[in-house]
Amino acid sequence: MTLKARWRALLDEAVPGEAIDGPKAKYFRARQLQAVRRLFPLVILGNVFNTVAVLTHFGDRLPMLWLGLWATVAVAGLGVGYLWWGALIKEQGRPAASPAAMRLIVWHVAFYTLVWSAVPVLVFPGADHNGEMLLATVTVGMLCAGGFLLSAHVLAASAYIVILTAASVSALLRSTYGQYPMLMLLLLAYGSTILGMVWSSSRVFLSRLRAEAETERQAQLIDLLLRDFEEHASDWLWETQPHGHLRHVSRHLASTFGMSAEQLQQRPFVELLATLIPADHVEARDAHAHLSQCLLRGVAFRDLELPVLVGDDLRWWSLTAKPLFDEQGRASGWRGVGRDITSARRARDDLARLANFDSLTGLANRHRFGEALSRMTQTGSPESRRCALMFLDLDNFKNINDSLGHAVGDLLLRSVGERIRQCVDESVLLARLGGDEFALLMPHPASVQAVAELAERLLASMNEPCQLDDVRVDVRASMGIALCPIDGDDPETLLKCADLALYAAKAAGRNTWRMFDAAMAESARNRVRLQHELGEALASEQFTIYYQPQWHLGEQAVVGFEALVRWHHAERGLIGPAEFIPVAEETGQIVPLGTWVLRQACREAAAWPAHLRVSVNLSAVQFRSSAVVEVVMQALADSGLAPERLELEITESALIEDYEGAQATLMALRSRGVRVALDDFGTGYSSLAYLRHFQMDKLKIDGLFVRSLDSDTEAQAVVTAIISLARALHLETTAEGVETRAQKLMLRALGCDDIQGYLVSRPMPAPQIRDFLIRSAHEQVASH
Ligand code: C2E
Ligand code: CA
Ligand code: CA
Repeated sequence: MTLKARWRALLDEAVPGEAIDGPKAKYFRARQLQAVRRLFPLVILGNVFNTVAVLTHFGDRLPMLWLGLWATVAVAGLGVGYLWWGALIKEQGRPAASPAAMRLIVWHVAFYTLVWSAVPVLVFPGADHNGEMLLATVTVGMLCAGGFLLSAHVLAASAYIVILTAASVSALLRSTYGQYPMLMLLLLAYGSTILGMVWSSSRVFLSRLRAEAETERQAQLIDLLLRDFEEHASDWLWETQPHGHLRHVSRHLASTFGMSAEQLQQRPFVELLATLIPADHVEARDAHAHLSQCLLRGVAFRDLELPVLVGDDLRWWSLTAKPLFDEQGRASGWRGVGRDITSARRARDDLARLANFDSLTGLANRHRFGEALSRMTQTGSPESRRCALMFLDLDNFKNINDSLGHAVGDLLLRSVGERIRQCVDESVLLARLGGDEFALLMPHPASVQAVAELAERLLASMNEPCQLDDVRVDVRASMGIALCPIDGDDPETLLKCADLALYAAKAAGRNTWRMFDAAMAESARNRVRLQHELGEALASEQFTIYYQPQWHLGEQAVVGFEALVRWHHAERGLIGPAEFIPVAEETGQIVPLGTWVLRQACREAAAWPAHLRVSVNLSAVQFRSSAVVEVVMQALADSGLAPERLELEITESALIEDYEGAQATLMALRSRGVRVALDDFGTGYSSLAYLRHFQMDKLKIDGLFVRSLDSDTEAQAVVTAIISLARALHLETTAEGVETRAQKLMLRALGCDDIQGYLVSRPMPAPQIRDFLIRSAHEQVASH
């Protein structure tokens, strides 16, 4: 830094200037001058004292006129200075001082110092010992005291110190003390020390002025912002007195409350709010109670949301406040902000509705149900946690949705939701979890019996077909029930139990309900184990095929065999397909398994006499897989079996999902000569529609009807109808599960083509087929 720059920096710290302080500079200068001027009485007193001392000592030694003139200037100069400075630091009634005024004052001080300096310079060299002492004391005293008194105006102080020090030095030089350089050095050291102190104290003074100004500026800014906030913002400030009444009611506050300022001040703040609370609004009442408690106990609160009625308008306010205390620590009211959060709150409520309700049915959704279940099972006493959880799932929804369209499907879901709602009282939480899955949470059921009765009522409510637009649809549902705390006491376990119970209800033939029991968990565990083991079984070919003969009633001969897969389990022995096929279908393992069965059955059948067919079951998953035609043709080609000797058995579930796809697959298979049979006929949904749409070769009448043929007239009617239907559509019929001669005779009388069942033979391993065929040929001859 150059010397000039350093001087500039020094000056800027001690002397106000427009460059740094802007318009404030003149006020700072005035403050500096005022600070000096305020000390004038003291200065005048000191000067009178000094002047009197000089006059008494030198009165008889120096010319009276000369002394008199000097004394007048010395004392009167101060008086004049006092008045003159006063005039200099005023600008339109406010204290302000220009740089020119400051300069004038420097000149004034310099002149005055020169006048005073004349005494030591002129008198000291010729003075006697006492006179020397007197002047030395007075001059050093003035140097110190004057420097400090002037220190607020640092330039004037500097001029004063420099001139007085110079005068003292010259006085010493001109006297006999001129030979003592030590005295001179001391004097210079005092002078510069005082100069340094004056600068430093002046810096402190100015920096204090600047800090004060900054503080004031900020205070004004805050004041401005607050005023703006009060007038324009959606927020409002409020402050109460110790007795709870509002202080300073702004226009904004009054319009927010929809009252006049006088009304606002008439009663305490809490009471005012109480008058705005909407009737029957639980949340409003709770919030107001909480607010009153906070105010009563002196506890600060934040973002307390309060619904209020301003006129007819329901608004939401958010209040934040803390208690105020006076200097003695006594409570002196409250200060806070209020904010109108109506639109934010509405948006939040809309979101909450979306997040908690199912938009299709208006019922609670999965999220809300889960929360309610958690609350129910996790709070309160064991008794208060008692509840029943029910899952309800429509049995034929997919079918309806696919065949009649999503619009009808939506209508159905709505109407089912409504039916369920009518069966339960308000304490039951009803939700749609997604798709056609509904759930109910019944708190504190009176007994297990009461839950069972509700389940019955719900299923009964589905009995009546639904009228949707112009279609009537049959609905059926399955339900699974779990009880808290009997089956579990946490949401996760309960959901799992209800799910397992639902699974069991479906497995039990649908359109029914089941309550969870431990055996279900056990069978679920078995299923999981089975899944795992199935993978290994596939890899190590633990499967084998049993064949069950199909007996032609007219020809009295075996016409084919149905291939039925078995699993040679290392530990459990032979496992039937009823146990593992559903699991394999769930996991998709059915595709490789089914392919294996198909290839194996074709290979083994190729070795049979050429008039015998083989029937192979195809799962829906398998039938719908894109490669099915290719897999079948490959199996035929690899085994050399003629396509006409292969019959594929499919169930209706294979056809319902994708009408066109199923039709194309059927056509592709049949055009290549492969036969197709519809298995388990009579247990499905809308059989006639399928038969008209899909070209097939055979219907297999489910064993369910066959079994009750001899006892149940309804079953006879069904079988009769199926057979005449098949005739009309030129389809062959095979009756399954024929166990008695009576059944066989009846079926023959009704015109059924083939029978299959234990009466003819149980399923047998491939190597036994030869013997069986020989035996059956003999029996046929014998029976003729
Ligand atoms: P399904 O196709 O209806 O097969 C007939 C079932 O009835 C067989 O049970 C058979 O053993 C049994 N059955 C035959 N005659 C009688 C009888 O007189 N009385 C009684 N009570 N039952 C009789 P299985 O072998 O346990 O097979 C059960 C089901 O597993 C089959 O029902 C079929 O849907 C499925 N399945 C079997 N093998 C396969 C396969 O390779 N692939 C696929 N996808 N499913 C298969
Ligand atoms: Ca079958
Ligand atoms: Ca069957």
